[in-house]
Amino acid sequence: MKTVYFDNNATTQVAPEVTEAMLPFFRELWGNPSSMHAFGGRVARHVEEGRAQVAELLGASPDEIIFTSCGTESDNAAIFSALQTQPSKRHIVISCVEHPAVLQSAAYWERQGCRVTRLGVDAKGRIDMDEYEFALSADTALVSVMFANNEVGNVYPIREMAEKARERGILFHTDAVQAAGKVPIDLATLPVDMLSLSGHKLHAPKGIGVLYVRRGVRFRPFIRGGHQERGRRAGTENVPYIAGLGVACRLARESMQDELTRVAALRDRLEQGIVSRVPDCIVNGDTEHRLPGTTNIAFRNIEGESVLLMLDRLGICASSGSACTSGSLEPSHVLHAMGVPFKYAHSATRFSLSRYNTQEEVDYTVEHIPAVIETLRKLSPFKD
Ligand code: PLP
Repeated sequence: MKTVYFDNNATTQVAPEVTEAMLPFFRELWGNPSSMHAFGGRVARHVEEGRAQVAELLGASPDEIIFTSCGTESDNAAIFSALQTQPSKRHIVISCVEHPAVLQSAAYWERQGCRVTRLGVDAKGRIDMDEYEFALSADTALVSVMFANNEVGNVYPIREMAEKARERGILFHTDAVQAAGKVPIDLATLPVDMLSLSGHKLHAPKGIGVLYVRRGVRFRPFIRGGHQERGRRAGTENVPYIAGLGVACRLARESMQDELTRVAALRDRLEQGIVSRVPDCIVNGDTEHRLPGTTNIAFRNIEGESVLLMLDRLGICASSGSACTSGSLEPSHVLHAMGVPFKYAHSATRFSLSRYNTQEEVDYTVEHIPAVIETLRKLSPFKD
């Protein structure tokens, strides 16, 4: 059975070109980029090439790019730095639909005595700009709002939000883990101070991330030790993955248009195909401002993750909007914040596409979903 992979917001296939680019660093070029000898020096050049390619995708300068181990580390490092460099400011603003990498980091600082404002969202997952402006104060050290949401795909008005923070002299961080490589980001004109991305969401391997820190923004390292990354992130560089991430960023730049047109059209075909054939289902999120490859569809009166299990039997990989907590399936914090009714939220299913998906895969899924839902509705303990 062929695997149809519609779970690209969880992780992506490593691009073959990326694998190829990494191999020499496991075979011949295994030196330490910090070494004084030429053998190490040859490797250092590739780290800088990777850095330049990441910078180019983001419209940044190479010296503004810090390599980390993952998106989670980048998010933690951004919040840590903002609070450590501004000890007189003890307030941060986040949204309630952030990834746990931001939510849990903020909760940690809250336990250390900081004040955290968690911006609410409406039924489509949108942030209220008046509430946002009201939250900003002289005590605010940082705003951290995601560029795009991993569950429903909403793309947030980062330019407008970052401008409002800058007007007040407040640092602005955005978790762009789901957005980087999928939608254009130009830090030359976007007034954000820090930005996180993660390799494995854009066809590079798991275990490599980036924190962009705008030139001139004061930074305090989260991980201390050696002088790597110009003293901003200690630890011997993950050279193969940095080289791979560089190539992934180049490929993302080259395929951005394909993402915005062909991948978006495939997503729409999948979504419309399902919605038009399956009664009583809804699309969650802000369908007008969304990542090109993401749709989150909820089916009324279907129990928990049974949709995923049935799809899995057909070789279709999707993901749930639910998190299994203490044996009961609770709607995710994102759908909960949006107030999606329980009868729908319970079965929310995220399909996330990439440039490797095809129309044939979409049509296969659309063909099989109606029978899956019909079967599950008959079995479901939930009734109106
Ligand atoms: N932020 C967002 C929005 C994500 O979707 C994820 C991963 O799912 C992360 C952060 C964490 O990235 P990583 O898996 O590289 O730690």
